[in-house]
Amino acid sequence: MPKLLCRCGEVISLSAIPCPFEWRIMSSTKLDTLPDQVDVEEIYRATDTIVRCPKCDRLWVFWDDAEVATEYARAPSES
Ligand SMILES: [Zn+2]
Repeated sequence: MPKLLCRCGEVISLSAIPCPFEWRIMSSTKLDTLPDQVDVEEIYRATDTIVRCPKCDRLWVFWDDAEVATEYARAPSES
């Protein structure tokens, strides 16, 4: 996943390690299954990947290691 093209046109480079645009997420129930003492690599493998666009703030979530991300965008402001 070296690059991701966002709907806004931004090309997000994901090649940096650590990557400033990549976030990790885990459900509370999954977190609760991990032992008290756990290696950070084990936590990393148990998480899903989120890519946050630095231009439009859109989130691209790769649920359960999916190859295609689910897109989440901010709702328009009501004011
Ligand atoms: Zn974007």
